[in-house]
Amino acid sequence: MQNLDSRAVYDVAVIGASVAGSTVATLLGRAGLDVLLCDKKNFPRNKPCGEGISSLGVRMLSELGITESSLSGREKNNYGLYRIWSKGKAFVLRAPSLRGVNTAMGVRRLLLDDKLLERAKSFPSVELLEGQGLKAVVDDGRYYVVTLDKQEIKAKYLVVADGAYSHTAIKLGIPLQHGKLSRFGYSYYAKGKAKKVIDSVSVLLEPGLQVFCTMTGTEEMTVSIVGNKNALHQVFADEALSVLHKEIELCTGFAIEEYSAPAGAGYVDQILRPPYRGRTFLVGDAVRRMDPAGGMGITHALGCGFLCASGLVEVLRRGRSCAEAGPEYENRQIRFSDSLARLTYINLLGLTCFTRYRFMLSLLRLSFLQHLAEHVSRTILSRAEAVLVQAGAFSSSSRN
Ligand SMILES: Cc1cc2nc3c(=O)[nH]c(=O)nc-3n(C[C@H](O)[C@H](O)[C@H](O)COP(=O)(O)OP(=O)(O)OC[C@H]3O[C@@H](n4cnc5c(N)ncnc54)[C@H](O)[C@@H]3O)c2cc1C
Repeated sequence: MQNLDSRAVYDVAVIGASVAGSTVATLLGRAGLDVLLCDKKNFPRNKPCGEGISSLGVRMLSELGITESSLSGREKNNYGLYRIWSKGKAFVLRAPSLRGVNTAMGVRRLLLDDKLLERAKSFPSVELLEGQGLKAVVDDGRYYVVTLDKQEIKAKYLVVADGAYSHTAIKLGIPLQHGKLSRFGYSYYAKGKAKKVIDSVSVLLEPGLQVFCTMTGTEEMTVSIVGNKNALHQVFADEALSVLHKEIELCTGFAIEEYSAPAGAGYVDQILRPPYRGRTFLVGDAVRRMDPAGGMGITHALGCGFLCASGLVEVLRRGRSCAEAGPEYENRQIRFSDSLARLTYINLLGLTCFTRYRFMLSLLRLSFLQHLAEHVSRTILSRAEAVLVQAGAFSSSSRN
């Protein structure tokens, strides 16, 4: 095993280089801090995801220097609408907009995660090790000694960004506060032809399942299916998928011609861990997994990254004690994450009600329900945004 890199001790080691990890590394790199960013996978890589990003997420991406147009012409696939389909009838909802950012967006994770990683790598003080997972970690009181597949490094602070099952958190003995396995998710990529302009994410409500269809290219759709285990098994059995594809075509106007194998299964549980302990900061799914039906996981991972980086910059650049900055991160992270979780639960509740009580709901004034849903969503998203603003996440140019 190779021992230590040219830099004997890094300021921060970030474990996991997906959305949350790359965000932290970019912001720390921007502040000139020495960062080791590692991931067990090599990039670009796919990851099961519905690939929808909220307007708050779009705003954070732009703050990181990733504009909509830099996502390789995908600006044409912006959407601001959700069409919720049940038994052939649609209910239209607007994705909550924010000042300055009116649309949500659909981007393939293959592309998004790679762009985020490129951004982190562009800072000379950020060193990336791909294809190297964390095998062991020991806190010697002063430094974390991190053993990767082929290397051993030391770091003053540790950021845990290795996703919902976080083996790093387990190795550090950071307990799960809650971890209920409830739902499962798969996603895959479909190529085909759109018979009309598709301006929305379509959500097809099936018994025990929600099917999210997000355009991530003019001839490319991501299909993400979330639900209970039995219903999911049935969808992937024999003929059922072609029946589903016919329904997708009827609802969205997108005729699927070929599709990839599902990009792995994502188990959707309500993982919750403490976001901070000692000199360790947890971010993204490692600290809390949002149900993908809310479409807030990427936004959550980005936001955690901003909050965590702001705390670490205070400590490493401005000499603030970690004993102060850590609990402040914890407090902000919980407020941010609770807001997005609330939005997620409301979305899920809405989807369930719409599946069960569509007829009764249709007796009410739908436009009233739409306005109410939009208002509630915008209020909650603005609260989450306020936590980021308070932490100084946005530069003045992007604040208006
Ligand atoms: C089916 C499904 C659909 C979804 N749809 C949406 C959606 O439409 N919109 C949305 O916003 N969110 C959605 N999500 C949620 C979203 O994908 C996650 O919330 C988001 O990816 C979390 O980012 P993260 O960086 O925290 O973790 P992850 O993206 O899970 O990344 C963790 C990284 O850590 C690496 N890693 C793991 N172990 C180690 C180790 N030991 N050492 C080094 N590296 C390691 C992994 O390789 C990975 O790159 C969906 C999720 C699922 C499962």
